[in-house]
Amino acid sequence: MIVMKFGGTSVGSAEAMRRVAHIVETYRSRKPVVVVSAMTKVTDTLRAIAREASEGRMPTQALEELHRRHEETITTLLSGKDKEQTLAVCLAMLDELEDICRGISLLRELSLRSVDLVSSFGERLSAPIVAGLLNTIGMNAFSVDARQVVRTDDRHTEAEVDFPITDLLLCETILPAVAEDRIPVVTGFIGATEQGATTTLGRGASDYTASIVGGALQADEIWIWTDVDGAMTADPRIVEDAQVLEKITYHEAAEMSYFGAKVLHPKTMVPAVRRRIPIRIKNTFNPSSAGTLISDETTVMPLGAKTITSIDRLCLIMIEGSGLVGLPDTPARVFKTTAGLKATVLMITQASSEHDICLLLGEKDGLTVLHALRTEFARELESGILEAVSMQPDIAVVAVVGQGMKGTPGMAARTFGILGKHQINIIAIAQGSSELNISFAVSRDDLQDTVRLVHQAFELGKKKHS
Ligand code: ASP
Ligand code: MG
Repeated sequence: MIVMKFGGTSVGSAEAMRRVAHIVETYRSRKPVVVVSAMTKVTDTLRAIAREASEGRMPTQALEELHRRHEETITTLLSGKDKEQTLAVCLAMLDELEDICRGISLLRELSLRSVDLVSSFGERLSAPIVAGLLNTIGMNAFSVDARQVVRTDDRHTEAEVDFPITDLLLCETILPAVAEDRIPVVTGFIGATEQGATTTLGRGASDYTASIVGGALQADEIWIWTDVDGAMTADPRIVEDAQVLEKITYHEAAEMSYFGAKVLHPKTMVPAVRRRIPIRIKNTFNPSSAGTLISDETTVMPLGAKTITSIDRLCLIMIEGSGLVGLPDTPARVFKTTAGLKATVLMITQASSEHDICLLLGEKDGLTVLHALRTEFARELESGILEAVSMQPDIAVVAVVGQGMKGTPGMAARTFGILGKHQINIIAIAQGSSELNISFAVSRDDLQDTVRLVHQAFELGKKKHS
């Protein structure tokens, strides 16, 4: 059995969906279980719809556009009974969405619970369409609303999965059907609490759903069909000669996705690793290319590092002062503050002089965290124990990642050597003891040059053919 997840662009149009159906048919003998995202941009539209309704306006235009797009896809692709049934299911769903919007617009209030409910419609619409299409071309498919099988807590918009129950529900619902050669088409991204409230697993989390499903069913492999050829040595928009990586480990994949290489949702690796299920990244629009295989195996690049990833739009917060040396609870207070604000800290550094602690955060959290830290340390700032709590905007973090870096001397020298030679200033540096990742902060203006130079220093580009 293979779990195949198709992302938003892969189901983004009638034409793309045809490709999906063809791919599923090609691998029919491997007993595919399909997981789908919403059609491209639909989740964004749904979020905007919810916001507009909460301001007291009916999002009529956007609702009509959603209606048109889904109806058109159905009438273009499906025929006969499948068309009629799918159309009825989807139109009823769109009516329900309209009612919910009316409710939100009357209340002028938008809880995260309502955001989740509205956001869930994208996948709830795309799954029946894909199932209907597979039926139209002669397969025996059915759609599965993941709210029936993925059980979560009530942390709306970022819900945590209850694995023991989810595993059980997935096996009960899906295994008997697969045994009869039926093809389940599961909605990615969504789940439900024990009380039946709709939840979502985080933006881009359909990948995660695929691996939750794959893990539960102990699939042979999980294939993530997307619109790129695989994980790459760098962002090809920055580095022209970046190349696709044939094999990476779960660890490398996790480091990469945390560091902005948007190939997979970061949580995707967790259920797959637990059951040691390989994940393959494939391109729906170029299916003959091998893609990237994520498993325990890896190919080691000659110079150790395998990929250069980066995150933009960050800021740096510095807590400094010579009095810090005598304040053992400072880190605890800093992190209590960031945790209280649910701000994600991307990188932390503290040199052994203990003179300053430096945090890297998303730009959007910067000011709130800055003010909260100034309040937390108001007394120390006043008495001079702390000199300043300050913020520097326009920062980017670059990470050099690779399993082959572990225990290999010279990784840092190669990275920083080339940057020094090109006068690029490093603002802060961190390397975890896993040694899989050296991360450092640079000014945002230096980001592109930094990625290009480090990629070049580790000779990661495509071999030039003369
Ligand atoms: N449709 C959801 C989103 O846009 C989930 C996904 O695409 O993976 O975030
Ligand atoms: Mg997506």
